Amino acid sequence: MNFDTALWFDPAEMLIGGRWIRAHDTMALENPSTGEAIGEIARGGSAEIDAAVAAAHEAMRGPWGRTPAFERGRVLARLGRLVEERVDVLALLEATDVGKPLGQARADAVALARYCEFYGGAADKVHGQTIPYLDGYTVYTLRQPHGVTGHIVPWNYPMQIIGRSVGAALAMGNACVLKPAEEACLTALAFARLAEEAGLPPGALNVVPGTGPEAGAALAGHPGVHHVSFTGSVAAGTAVQTAAAANAVPVTLELGGKSPQIVFEDADLDDALPFLVNAGIQNAGQTCSAGSRVLVHRSRHDEVVARMAERIAALRVGPAVEDLDVGPLISARQRGIVEGFLARADGLEVAATGRIVTDAAGHYVAPHLLTGVAPGHDLAQSEIFGPVQVVIPFEGEEEAVAVANGTDYGLVAGVWTRDGARQMRMARDLRAGQVFLNNYGAGGGVELPFGGVGRSGHGREKGFEALYGFSQLKTVAARHG
Ligand code: NAD
Repeated sequence: MNFDTALWFDPAEMLIGGRWIRAHDTMALENPSTGEAIGEIARGGSAEIDAAVAAAHEAMRGPWGRTPAFERGRVLARLGRLVEERVDVLALLEATDVGKPLGQARADAVALARYCEFYGGAADKVHGQTIPYLDGYTVYTLRQPHGVTGHIVPWNYPMQIIGRSVGAALAMGNACVLKPAEEACLTALAFARLAEEAGLPPGALNVVPGTGPEAGAALAGHPGVHHVSFTGSVAAGTAVQTAAAANAVPVTLELGGKSPQIVFEDADLDDALPFLVNAGIQNAGQTCSAGSRVLVHRSRHDEVVARMAERIAALRVGPAVEDLDVGPLISARQRGIVEGFLARADGLEVAATGRIVTDAAGHYVAPHLLTGVAPGHDLAQSEIFGPVQVVIPFEGEEEAVAVANGTDYGLVAGVWTRDGARQMRMARDLRAGQVFLNNYGAGGGVELPFGGVGRSGHGREKGFEALYGFSQLKTVAARHG
């Protein structure tokens, strides 16, 4: 199978109200592994967003709005099975579109299937409560959909983010308008094709590719949207929240991070090392929850640096379809940003770099391991979104917490120690939405609520928690004597 045979639909079409419509304009589809243009993608704007929001309202008034929870669950479960059957095709589309190594793209497709399965199973298990109240009253709560939900998704993990946000929103009975990132629309369009095949009624899912300032801004500020789920940068998230605020619409913001992996003196390094490296270079470092700051107790610093350096020097960087350790960055722009950070690494020691093993003109950056980094240095504070890891030494627990919490972000944190009491103290004191004890990422964890504090955002997706976020609570008080 090659890309042309895998692409079984026309990417210049978008889905609005159950109809595939050719966009009035298109955007170039680029393969980041080669830098070549390989097609055209639909470019929707405010008119298409208006039509999509109207179609979603129509779906809420029509069959989708009256579909029982268990039926919604069945549709999602069927969708999950269809995704599972197409895992290889979806992986090839994603690898070609985003540049992630085929194996990592495949894992994303498997996760998408799993989200559909999880939220399919959960759809009819979200209950309200009865509340003991005054004599002569019966009081209960209803969990109801917001109505029309907007989903603005970035390019780094399109399938996983669509699964966790659209999957949960559909499970709760919302009708969705999905705006994928301009750099990575193919799997969003493929997902919509499969959703139709699974029997999702027209208008329950609408997909409008387009740019952030055009389609994205139109969706965020649309008065007909009742909830916005945004995943992406702090700057765009702030713009989305501001636009939604004008309509008093709730927003979930899943933003960036500069997450620490903290290695104490008693850590099992054999166990920790693969995580310490992978958490920084997975998806070429373009991961919101990348473990991009490695904080090491001074007594183990040199040993950790030497062992990480050995692994990083062995990493091979090349085209996504060759499924090496690291692929290209998403775009020439992103590569320029990462190279700009590296150019500002004066005075830091480069302990190791990986190897670019291709002559292809893709957007490749070799993984870098940097040491001698002060906690306040720009490279230890900013989200680089590339395969760059910094190592920072610390003396004791108090300093480790202070350095770990010393950025504007608070998405996730990893802690490596055998001391159980210290594990509990770290879990309590770290400023993050998820804390991993003697692991990092817990294998993705569809079931595990995810989200940040500070500039990493607010609201939680994944797990059951997302179902509460994608619904609203209504209190009913009946006075009957
Ligand atoms: P981005 O913010 O530029 O784009 C994300 C999405 O927002 C895209 O669909 C884009 O078109 C849209 N957008 C851009 N400007 C907009 C605007 N003014 N109004 C409405 N929509 C707009 O981010 P990116 O560069 O594509 O992604 C990288 C960022 O995403 C990183 O900061 C990363 O950490 C973050 N991210 C976070 C998570 C998470 O779950 N917390 C997951 C993945 C990525």
